[in-house]
Amino acid sequence: MSEAAYDLVVIGAGPGGYVCAIRAAQLGLKVACVEKRETLGGTCLNVGCIPSKALLQASEKYEEASHGLAAFGVKVGKVELDLKAMMGHKDKTVKSNVDGIAFLFKKNKVDWIKGAGRIAGAGKVEVALNAGGTQGLAAKAIVIATGSDVVSLPSLKIDEKKIVSSTGALALSEVPKSMVLVGGGVIGLEMGSVWQRLGAKVTVVEFLDRIMPGMDGEVSKQMQRILTKQGMAFKLSTKVTAAKVGPKGVSLTLEPAAGGAAETLDTDIVLVAVGRRPYTDGLGLKESGVAMDEKGRVAVDGHYQTNVPGIYAIGDAIAGPMLAHKAEDEGTAVAEILAGQHGHVNYDAIPSVVYTWPECSSVGKTEEQLKAEGVEYRVGKFPFTANGRARAMNATDGFVKILADKATDRVLGVHMVGPAVGELIAELALAIEFGASSEDIARTCHAHPTLTEAVREAALAVDGRPIHI
Ligand code: FAD
Ligand code: NAD
Repeated sequence: MSEAAYDLVVIGAGPGGYVCAIRAAQLGLKVACVEKRETLGGTCLNVGCIPSKALLQASEKYEEASHGLAAFGVKVGKVELDLKAMMGHKDKTVKSNVDGIAFLFKKNKVDWIKGAGRIAGAGKVEVALNAGGTQGLAAKAIVIATGSDVVSLPSLKIDEKKIVSSTGALALSEVPKSMVLVGGGVIGLEMGSVWQRLGAKVTVVEFLDRIMPGMDGEVSKQMQRILTKQGMAFKLSTKVTAAKVGPKGVSLTLEPAAGGAAETLDTDIVLVAVGRRPYTDGLGLKESGVAMDEKGRVAVDGHYQTNVPGIYAIGDAIAGPMLAHKAEDEGTAVAEILAGQHGHVNYDAIPSVVYTWPECSSVGKTEEQLKAEGVEYRVGKFPFTANGRARAMNATDGFVKILADKATDRVLGVHMVGPAVGELIAELALAIEFGASSEDIARTCHAHPTLTEAVREAALAVDGRPIHI
């Protein structure tokens, strides 16, 4: 077996791995990235963020043309769905993104080793090449960026036909009449929104007593109200105990989470979206002595190094929110650390967006977290019903809520539901990064008429002086 030598070998080319490889190459390191998929970009570009947003965008257009345009005085004829073309839009979007990473690898002279990597001890990676045969790699440093995989439930065997994961839900060949989402988290609500807009009757079965459990309580409540208005049904505090797949669909047995009488729910398609688990299968971690934490994630120190010197880990494979931009930032940080710089990620300033309509977004602490930590805070809230641009857009559902430290006025958390709040959140992430006060936001000129004025008004409301409510 021939052996090539590198400063850095990254295993996995998702947003964590490919960004790490490119940043390290920019800093002068000789870098290889091992990826077993036929295309680069990982879960995010192939079966995650990008295809789901392409379908969310496309289904939003269909929904708007079907029900939203008349109110603007725009008459359209009979709106028809061409699902094949919609899937074509998704596939084209994915292709241009994954091809883009291949181009960036070439531009930055990162070697893509196509195959499955296994760590054979510190400084050694063995790759079972997709084309056949094995390639040995010697590396001064190894970064594990192998991401995550779907969590399945014993009662729901995923076949990607009738009982699907997010991957199957991104590629259904026809619109189901009905769909049950097991799990009322991010994937469930985003993919459920897509198929509901296209005509499916969607029911959410959630184990806990609220949807989107990690979000601020007020956001969860408001989103459930809005999604209910859109036609989504919710069965909270409920678990699935059995599933029978038949020729027509799936018959689910449901029970109250706390136990009690069972009921049956029949549906065409079941989407299992109960979370994701770190994926390190076949990596040789046990044999290499790499320690895992109590939740089966690769354990790392403050510099992303595992207990084995020279082996690092980032992204979904380690602790923290399973988000593409978190993985990217860790990829950048570890590359800079390996190049002798001071890479760092501020975990208090990582935004999170759910791309439903309207969107929800957040950064920093929730009210529940601040209460649990005993932090005294003030709340400023402003509804989109009082924002001129939102009225002009016919998109007045939602609010901006700013939480600021009672003594110092420093912004601690921001939570929003509303149009384009996935874009508005960037200003607030910057505010937290810069240690801004709500007064800083309130005194910053915001263009009129824009949705951003709702952010300024919420900041003014922290001090009890909003102008427009
Ligand atoms: P991944 O993207 O999972 O990449 C890991 C790569 O490693 C994979 O390509 C895999 O093939 C490869 N690999 C694994 N083991 C080996 C091995 N032994 N050898 C070689 N290669 C290997 N996040 C957001 O921030 N915004 C969103 O809108 C969003 N939407 C999502 C929608 C869906 C449906 C899903 C499933 C996820 C979504 N996410 C979103 C989450 C996001 O995709 C992940 O947080 C992100 O991809 C994690 O990046 P990563 O680099 O750690 O791992
Ligand atoms: P999630 O953690 O967001 O939601 C899972 C939900 O399933 C929770 O509400 C949980 O209480 C519920 N649940 C767990 N076990 C259950 C059971 N047995 N029966 C019923 N409900 C159960 O996970 P997800 O939606 O699968 O998403 C996985 C990851 O992907 C998330 O961590 C998220 O960060 C990431 N993601 C992000 C985005 C985005 O940023 N827009 C989009 C999609 C996915």
